[in-house]
Amino acid sequence: MFVMLIAQRTFDLMKDVIIVGSGITGCTLAWTWLLKGKTVAIISDKAPASSSVAAGVYNPTVLKRFTPIWKAQEQLDVMLPFYKAVESHLGRSFLQHVPVLRRLYDAGEAATWTRKAQRDDLRDFMNPEVFTETIDGIDAPHGYGVVQPTGACDTEAFMTATIEHLEGLNSFNQQSFEHQQLQLHNDFVTYKHLQARHIIFAEGFAMRHNTYYNHLPLEGNKGELLIVRIPGLELNYIIKSSVFLTHYKEDLFWVGATYNRDDLTAAPTSDALAFLTSRLEKFLKVPYEIVEHKVGIRPTTQDRRPFLGSVDSLKRHFICNGMGSRAVLLAPWAAIQLYNHIYNAAVLDSDVDCNRVTTS
Ligand SMILES: Cc1cc2nc3c(=O)[nH]c(=O)nc-3n(C[C@H](O)[C@H](O)[C@H](O)COP(=O)(O)OP(=O)(O)OC[C@H]3O[C@@H](n4cnc5c(N)ncnc54)[C@H](O)[C@@H]3O)c2cc1C
Repeated sequence: MFVMLIAQRTFDLMKDVIIVGSGITGCTLAWTWLLKGKTVAIISDKAPASSSVAAGVYNPTVLKRFTPIWKAQEQLDVMLPFYKAVESHLGRSFLQHVPVLRRLYDAGEAATWTRKAQRDDLRDFMNPEVFTETIDGIDAPHGYGVVQPTGACDTEAFMTATIEHLEGLNSFNQQSFEHQQLQLHNDFVTYKHLQARHIIFAEGFAMRHNTYYNHLPLEGNKGELLIVRIPGLELNYIIKSSVFLTHYKEDLFWVGATYNRDDLTAAPTSDALAFLTSRLEKFLKVPYEIVEHKVGIRPTTQDRRPFLGSVDSLKRHFICNGMGSRAVLLAPWAAIQLYNHIYNAAVLDSDVDCNRVTTS
């Protein structure tokens, strides 16, 4: 009887998955599992995370070159219902559908826009007609190209709500994960007092300290952005010029971002400040005030594909990382790929399988 009780207790405590990290990726993984009726525990510290800097924009195109991102429609097809499901579960909303207006630099670019927007792989996202309506406070003499479906996720609210939800389930552990304390068994893993069938590492750029996966060539890319106050600016769009201007809350807006692979320090720089303000002032024609200057290190990969899968022969530990500059759009797709791999024996796309990287 006693043995049976202990066995039952062990079973009760056994989670389906432990997730290390509560950034956009960790929280997205958690919901992917929870919405399928699985049990989850998150372990996460309060180290600076790229996700707390993200403006949360999602956009299926690359607006420098006018190309679609990799698997754009497939990612949207997972991401949009994903947020809807989380929102309806929690009774609150995180995702706002807002068109992106790509400010066109000259008449030649406007013509290129119209031509490219008719391509098969772009016509679902780019409207060929140049948008010429005036937006008070914004200078755009050559108009804008309209991109949809696009918008922004309130990532801070999404992560806070996820953590609160897991705290309510007694399943959020705020601590630094120590990899040497993880024990792997045939059918489960143990970490201190926790037991789970699987563990997934979603540590962002901190993956370089992960003894199981730090052979993967994850690259940091430092991004800086500003929160600015622009009294009186009514903006129902996301403006994309050489920087983004996106509404944040009240009279606050995000301005971003920079990309730097060489300086991976957490310090804000005067160069980035000068870059962001000078680019903003090219099109913002009303006064603004800088409220905050934020820095994050994006977890990026050379081939711009995430790292998913496992290097463990027992398939107990997994990686979900490398979301680059597009976690809001990519992480739901990545999470379901991993879920189907673990539970439905789906073979991972070789483009994203972390085993595509060979070590010499
Ligand atoms: C300036 C800037 C602007 C951006 N704008 C956008 C945007 O508009 N749209 C978009 O989609 N993306 C944007 N991004 C990219 C986005 O921020 C990243 O893709 C995303 O944050 C990656 O999330 P992540 O959860 O994988 O990693 P992270 O956010 O780094 O989270 C990792 C988590 O793991 C935890 N952790 C790590 N190691 C341990 C450990 N040993 N023990 C416990 N916990 C641990 C950390 O505390 C953290 O919670 C932007 C990035 C930057 C820098």
